[in-house]
Amino acid sequence: MIQLQHIKKSYEHHVVIQDLSLEIKNGELLVIVGQSGSGKTTLLNMMSGIITPESGEIFYNQQKLTMEDAEQLRLKSGYVLQSSSLFPHLTVLENLFIQPRARQEKWTKEEQMEKGKELCQQVQLDPSCLTQYPKELSGGQQQRVSIARALANQPQFILLDEPFSALDPFIRKQLQDLLLELHKTHLDITFVMVTHDMEEALKLGDRIAVLHEGKLEQVGSPKEIMDQPKTAFVEELFAGKNLDAFWFRTFLTTISKVPVKNEIPVIQNFSQLLELTKVRKDDPILFQFNHCGYQTTFSAILQFISKELRQW
Ligand code: ADP
Repeated sequence: MIQLQHIKKSYEHHVVIQDLSLEIKNGELLVIVGQSGSGKTTLLNMMSGIITPESGEIFYNQQKLTMEDAEQLRLKSGYVLQSSSLFPHLTVLENLFIQPRARQEKWTKEEQMEKGKELCQQVQLDPSCLTQYPKELSGGQQQRVSIARALANQPQFILLDEPFSALDPFIRKQLQDLLLELHKTHLDITFVMVTHDMEEALKLGDRIAVLHEGKLEQVGSPKEIMDQPKTAFVEELFAGKNLDAFWFRTFLTTISKVPVKNEIPVIQNFSQLLELTKVRKDDPILFQFNHCGYQTTFSAILQFISKELRQW
């Protein structure tokens, strides 16, 4: 468990984090959201010991974080940044072994390759990438390697700073799904992720911490944040997040496209799609959105709802 108690941090006379207290539970996926400049990265950097708070204390499993053990902590944790922080002159496999090498662990070439393949499998990356250099990979593949590198550390926690912001919507969705999958399969790892995208926060977070001008406005489940916003700021931040339209766009990335024909109904959101559903599970349902035709089935909709809309 990570505990922040009365943390404060300023630069010159500018107070960036003000008397902030937060408890992050073991194994949860906590998303910190806030507008640009609200102090999200500063907060994450304090959790990883890169920046020391001016006052207040940070505890890991009841142990106070000191400057002396911050380095040790970083070696046991994972950090994923917005744009790939892979070393360009090292292969993917060598990048994966940066931290174990820093800890002076001895791995034979064969053991490294074996572990590399296992990590590739966890992040759904073709193992042929292991001998490639980062610039030979796409942005999405590079982020998968960054996540694999974080996992290679056998971390207690992984900090992610806007990890998917630079990716296009389709790849972004794949990576969000991967993170949810890893969260489900690695129950012992605590994930703390920063984003300025409210919809991403709603999709991924077990809990969301809303940061505004260095203060926590509210910490709660996505449902609590949407249904019972504690402050006018939280309400405004999440207002107009048309979740129906958001889930609808997400659903479109999972189904097949078909040619557009005039007789195919035009729809705009998930509610309208549900109105088109047919009782027989595998009858094709055709519709168009934004001048593109799509085909789905009642079973596919049910499957999507049970997988994606877990908290609604
Ligand atoms: P966010 O991640 O929410 O965009 P940051 O934590 O990066 O916010 O920054 C919060 C505020 O602190 C900003 O006003 C930023 O300009 C300021 N800040 C961050 N790092 C430094 C620094 N090293 N020196 C001076 N000001 C900084």
